Amino acid sequence: MATRTPITVAHGDGIGPEIMGATLHILEAAGAQLAIETIEVGEKVYLSGNTTGITPQSWESLRRTKVFLKAPITTPQGGGYKSLNVTTRKMLGLYANIRPCVSYHPFVRTKHPVMDVVIVRENEEDLYAGIEYQTSPDEMQSIKLISRPGTEKIVRYAFEYALKFNRKKVTCFTKDNIMKMSDGLFHKIFDEIGVEYPEIEKEHWIVDIGAAKLADTPEAFDVIVMPNLYGDVLSDVAAQIAGSVGLAGSSNIGDKCAMFEAIHGSAPRRAGQNLANPSGLLHGALLMLVHIGQTDVAERIHNAWRRTMEDGIHTYDIFTEGKSKQKVGTKEFGDAVVERLGQLPQTLKPVHLAAHVATKARASSVVRPAVQVAQRSRRADRKSRGRRLQTRHDFESRREGVARWNSRNVLYRCVPLPLHSALADAPTNRRAAGARGGAGSRNRHDRDAAQLRRQTRLHARSGTISSCSSA
Ligand code: NAD
Repeated sequence: MATRTPITVAHGDGIGPEIMGATLHILEAAGAQLAIETIEVGEKVYLSGNTTGITPQSWESLRRTKVFLKAPITTPQGGGYKSLNVTTRKMLGLYANIRPCVSYHPFVRTKHPVMDVVIVRENEEDLYAGIEYQTSPDEMQSIKLISRPGTEKIVRYAFEYALKFNRKKVTCFTKDNIMKMSDGLFHKIFDEIGVEYPEIEKEHWIVDIGAAKLADTPEAFDVIVMPNLYGDVLSDVAAQIAGSVGLAGSSNIGDKCAMFEAIHGSAPRRAGQNLANPSGLLHGALLMLVHIGQTDVAERIHNAWRRTMEDGIHTYDIFTEGKSKQKVGTKEFGDAVVERLGQLPQTLKPVHLAAHVATKARASSVVRPAVQVAQRSRRADRKSRGRRLQTRHDFESRREGVARWNSRNVLYRCVPLPLHSALADAPTNRRAAGARGGAGSRNRHDRDAAQLRRQTRLHARSGTISSCSSA
């Protein structure tokens, strides 16, 4: 018997357990060789008092298997609960989020019959880095973090993905006409790395007009690489205009671990009614099978799923009177896919994943210099990333107790110039405040500035700032 690949599975919240049940049923029937470790994450764990939504035992399982198939979870509102999705991506270093959005015309209703777009979303930085703080009772700030190592990694991933899967074009979306430094850096790195891939067409769009073009003419795009926030928003839009948000799966890839999921959430309104479409999670699971080398099983399932679409066996979200043949529940949809294992679609293009594996081998020999550059860049990146994570770790681990201390630290690292000016202004402000009303009138800003100067001196002495600012 073939060796079983250990994976960690979380059944999630809301519709999670139902769609995971259907997905695992299909994987098992198709002969996927998996040794499953099941963990509990999400709502129950949050409500038991754990604000991260995941226990140390679950982290152990993830570190052991390095492959995570996760159903959507519910993050309770308020109460300081951290997003498990964001935490997992950061803790496991899952820097690339890949979201293929494909239309299945004429079987699934869509205004875009020819749509096959892959969104490659940076997964750790941008406004999702979690660097937020309060500057006054009436003002909150979030830092948009775009780093060279982080951007190089995601942009290179997008080009390598395009090569491996025979894609012709990589487009970059940013808003660098406004965020000239942060998005400007992302765009600049896209242009730099693009030079290493002469066989791939490259283009850049400002994100607002690019998003409008994507919603109107998705067939104009192939692979799109974007910073975190734009990628999150636009991949939902892309999935929905392809047919349903319930159809798209995604992979979150890191150097050591990977996580696979549906792009949608736990849809609590649909939970427990055997209604939800398991296709998004199933597509996530197919990406997982390719990742762990069970390409033949992924191909079998994908073709059976396409045949099920063609046969008009549809869940409520894609059911169209007159076009669909049978409205089915989550479980029955899973059974329908299992019945069609071994069959090929008749109208939709059959999936041939083995071809991509061959392409990969061809591509890697043709573009050896680029790959070598990538390896060099990865080595350099690991070094600087180690320093960066150290700081992030400091930030995360101290967040609860001394959030301001750390956010200032990170702020200093990210935008040294404005903060230097703030520091330079601070004594004047304090003197002015003192002149107006003495020590008793020092306001919160003055105290912050004084505290910040003390910390800056401390860090300068301990060397933290120099290592941070070079990260
Ligand atoms: P959602 O994606 O859960 O659902 C929005 C709507 O889309 C649903 O009401 C439903 O009509 C439809 N839908 C989604 N998935 C479907 C499916 N598989 N089949 C059929 N219809 C489907 O978005 P939301 O309501 O904004 O979020 C609900 C919860 O999910 C929140 O707690 C949120 O934090 C969480 N969430 C989790 C993840 C994740 O775990 N990866 C991602 C996004 C949101």
